Amino acid sequence: MNHTKPKFKEKYGNFINGEFVDPIGGQYFENTSPTNNQLIAKYPRSQKEDVEKAIDAANAAKVAWGNTSAAHRASILQKIADVIEENLNEFAAIDTYDNGKAIRETVNADIPLAVDHFRYFASVIRAEEGSATELNENTLSLIIKEPLGVVAQIIPWNFPMLMLAWKVAPALASGNCVVLKPAEQTPSSATFLMEKIGHLLPPGVLNVIHGFGPEAGKPLASSSKVNKVAFTGETTTGQLIMQYASKNLNPVTMELGGKSPNVFFNSVMDHDDEFLDKCIEGAVLFAFNQGEVCTCPSRLLVQEDIYDKFMERVVERTKAIIQGDPFDINTQIGAQASHDQYEKILSYMDIGKEEGAKVLCGGEAFKASGEYADGFYIQPTILEGHNKMRVFQEEIFGPVLAVCKFKDEAEALEIANDTLYGLGAGVWTRDAHQLYQIPRAIKAGRVWVNCYHDYPAHAPFGGYKKSGFGRENHLMMLNHYRQAKNMLISY
Ligand code: NAD
Repeated sequence: MNHTKPKFKEKYGNFINGEFVDPIGGQYFENTSPTNNQLIAKYPRSQKEDVEKAIDAANAAKVAWGNTSAAHRASILQKIADVIEENLNEFAAIDTYDNGKAIRETVNADIPLAVDHFRYFASVIRAEEGSATELNENTLSLIIKEPLGVVAQIIPWNFPMLMLAWKVAPALASGNCVVLKPAEQTPSSATFLMEKIGHLLPPGVLNVIHGFGPEAGKPLASSSKVNKVAFTGETTTGQLIMQYASKNLNPVTMELGGKSPNVFFNSVMDHDDEFLDKCIEGAVLFAFNQGEVCTCPSRLLVQEDIYDKFMERVVERTKAIIQGDPFDINTQIGAQASHDQYEKILSYMDIGKEEGAKVLCGGEAFKASGEYADGFYIQPTILEGHNKMRVFQEEIFGPVLAVCKFKDEAEALEIANDTLYGLGAGVWTRDAHQLYQIPRAIKAGRVWVNCYHDYPAHAPFGGYKKSGFGRENHLMMLNHYRQAKNMLISY
């Protein structure tokens, strides 16, 4: 089944204080689709004064919203989840057109997961119980969780709706007001969301401003009128944002880049065709859904005694990947998210070749046909080399899999951990000892064992090392959006 491309107005506004408004300076930028390089719509090129207007609206709303009951906020989050679910196909088509990713991902994963994150935080915020202890017969100790106030949230383009849900759902559930800046490459689903749910929230509680990082993101992250900055994006941008926030001593959470190892031990080839098939899918498909995933298993490590046979299957499976029309539900790789991203990925192909990496398949741009001929597509590519090469060390964020072999457990761990990042990892084995000890020794916030890529709302997610700090999802996320107040009451 083919999904249809969404329809857009000529231009859209920021959503501030419960309504869509034009940018104060009247400037807009053009958002184009990477699927076909056609104009989608114009969005506000917001400047400091637009950001301040949104922050002021959030500050004006924060006391009343912070005093609402958890039950009330939960009921609104449930309604937001229902609206997203009712419009699932529209949201999926919008994210596919904005971002280029295949519709099978947005329909089956991104949007259903966004729905689930709103439902999850609607549920857990009500399940919490307060705590009170007696210090002595005359004194009571109470712990109260208070919202922080106004939260600045800045998100990337690779999962437009899902990253929004990860950020907005726990912040609103905790009683904060939000000013959100979506990525300039993917402004559309956040705008569509506000069209659909804006009326469910009091004015000022959730504000969306569009624009570029240095013009709109920087004043948002630097503002002394926000109480926290939550960021997802590149490590270098995260470092800047920490500097901005530090002037106000504001807390930050940082969800940053990755270069995740996917490690296959020789026992995966032990007489079980079904399991081996799953391993081949695990090595190939999660690396090649455009490769624009922060936990993309972009380094494939295979034990040397199975290397040749295993890689033969990996290359064969990669060559069978269906690429092209992002709106065809069978397509497995759509377009890269932007022309810049496309150029960056192609430049890494050259870097890899210059470093001496061997191209096992792909290695070039992909020419899509028909109406997608002008889009930004790249062949799934496998580069064989060693872990010191730049293509093994730097986040390419594209369908480029860097492959090397290892001798034993010690060498597997040495290579897996020889990275600046520590976001995700995969371990595939039938050996009971390795099943627990290898993931335990890998320095990453999420390790999948004999599987890869699931992001349930109730599992904490976040990075070690230069992949950031703080955790998204799970109950523990709520503590990133609240203060704990202790009252000692003597009577
Ligand atoms: P990016 O850092 O370029 O941009 C992210 C956001 O920051 C955008 O909204 C952008 O406008 C804004 N921004 C850019 N410069 C800014 C500045 N100086 N001040 C304030 N805001 C600024 O990242 P990207 O290219 O959009 O996204 C890809 C990156 O995101 C990858 O590194 C990927 O690994 C990472 N990512 C991480 C996670 C995670 O959970 N760890 C999830 C998704 C993506």
